[in-house]
Amino acid sequence: MPENFAALSEKEKQKWTTYVAKDFTSQIDKNYEVIVRGAGLIGTAYGEKTFLKTLDYLKALNKKKCLKCKINWCKSCSLYKLNLNNSLIYHVIKLSKAQILQIVGDSLFNWEWSNPDGEFARSQKSAQTYWFKISKSKSKPVFYIALMCEDYAEYLLGSGKRFAYF
Ligand SMILES: [Zn+2]
Repeated sequence: MPENFAALSEKEKQKWTTYVAKDFTSQIDKNYEVIVRGAGLIGTAYGEKTFLKTLDYLKALNKKKCLKCKINWCKSCSLYKLNLNNSLIYHVIKLSKAQILQIVGDSLFNWEWSNPDGEFARSQKSAQTYWFKISKSKSKPVFYIALMCEDYAEYLLGSGKRFAYF
């Protein structure tokens, strides 16, 4: 997201979001996925780079004992009894907007509405521009993040493949 996004003309904004969408789909690597949820939005980013950057950031927070799971949403905790201190992958972790902004930074997240048919979503221009509004506003919605990785799932299922990131 360019710093001056808000000041761009509608045409330039459109051009920029189309460019991001194109770039986003061209480098899709579904093995590594970061999903963010909050403020009525769902943000998704694919690729090893964003995944590892996010994992490192979360690991640092976890070291400071700053991470909490949304237990009733988190199957890793509630169903599989996986400990957050063994791996952060596949947990549904609660984060503040400031923390989410650290993670999203200049990574390519694609923003969609969690309820696209809702009145609110319909009243807004797009999920992408609403995310921009939220990110610059003083409001502090709660966000949740989950890291997904097929290699890790296979590792958990005992495929025997070595998994390097926890
Ligand atoms: Zn959990």
